[in-house]
Amino acid sequence: MPTDTPTFTILKPARLMDGTDSPPKTGMAVLLQDDRIQAIGPADKIAFPGAATGEVLEFPDATLLPGLIDCHTHTNMPGTGRRGEDVHREDTDDIRLMRSAHNVAIALQSGVTTVCDCGGWNKTTFSLKEAIKEGLVNGPRVLAAGRPITTTGGHCWFMGSEADGVDGVRQAARQLIKEGADFLKVMGTGGSTLGTDPFRPAFSLEELQAIGDEGHRRNRVVVAHCRTNDAMRMVIDAGFDAIMHGWFTDDTGKKTYDEKLADYIAKKEVRVNPTLQITRSRFQLFEGRDLTPEEEAQYTRMQANHAETLDHCGRLFKAGVKLMAGSDCGWGVYPFGHFDRELLALVNAGLTPTQAIVAGTSNNAELLGVGDIIGTVEEGKLADLLVVEGNPAENITDIANVTAVFRTGERIR
Ligand SMILES: [Zn+2]
Repeated sequence: MPTDTPTFTILKPARLMDGTDSPPKTGMAVLLQDDRIQAIGPADKIAFPGAATGEVLEFPDATLLPGLIDCHTHTNMPGTGRRGEDVHREDTDDIRLMRSAHNVAIALQSGVTTVCDCGGWNKTTFSLKEAIKEGLVNGPRVLAAGRPITTTGGHCWFMGSEADGVDGVRQAARQLIKEGADFLKVMGTGGSTLGTDPFRPAFSLEELQAIGDEGHRRNRVVVAHCRTNDAMRMVIDAGFDAIMHGWFTDDTGKKTYDEKLADYIAKKEVRVNPTLQITRSRFQLFEGRDLTPEEEAQYTRMQANHAETLDHCGRLFKAGVKLMAGSDCGWGVYPFGHFDRELLALVNAGLTPTQAIVAGTSNNAELLGVGDIIGTVEEGKLADLLVVEGNPAENITDIANVTAVFRTGERIR
């Protein structure tokens, strides 16, 4: 927080990655003043201004990067394999909110300085945001969608925003914005929620257009959960900004890469958050034990499926689509604190480590409308920073070797 007497800190890492495509620079230093990045330059040129003094932090084997941005989390969820239905039936909002506080603190310690919550119960994620602002919870910056807008009985209906028809979805969007939604999340298809169909569009085009209009009129980004090609095409037609999952699948559930659709996504500059690790995290359920023949077959199918998802993601990236790194953690068996695994999965899909880091920093900041304050290490931006041992531009797994985390200039690890 800015005070009358400014606080200065100089960071001297071995390498600086700024969150863009540029290769890491060596011999650089970064001057922080209070919550901001004041100056960046060669280490021998960066000094405290005038008579000011401050702390000099040397990280001789480490890399300084922008704090990571996970564009897809569910802070209400435990990541222990409990289903949405279980958390709906067995937990109260009080417990869900306390779990959110617990989860985001873990995320922050792991170097994630901003998370999007893409769906929680009732008002819990808005309360989480308030609690962090008040300093009650030591968490990252949270951008919350609140409740996803879904059809009656649709994916995550139990979170509390079922809406139907043009008037109904408009009202739901306005209600969420009134309560504090930073962006709108729309369930474009079914998903893991029992009784939903992941392979068919959930809303009509008219309903989607109404949500898109309503969000954009109030300057909110509008994103859709889509697990099928038809639904992806519809949300693009409706003017949405980003697609979550974006797994290429036909209406029978068969994985089917569609080159024309990929070109359409690229041409419309819609971004895709491919959520690769959320399925791979399920492999652990089959590892390190004897499997029945049925389980063996299931595991083999899952692995083949995942290989195909990686291949599709790589082709989508080559088609020119900007990817957003987002873990979907909290859901399934993917706990908080392991965003590094999503970045590794992006590298497995064919991105370079630097491209994966761009997907988890500046690409997300830009799309979410916070690119002017975070997402890159740049003079004038907020000092949301991460220091990791090693060189993640060469070895992406180094991103997990966290040495220091700064949130708006404050060292929290
Ligand atoms: Zn999700």
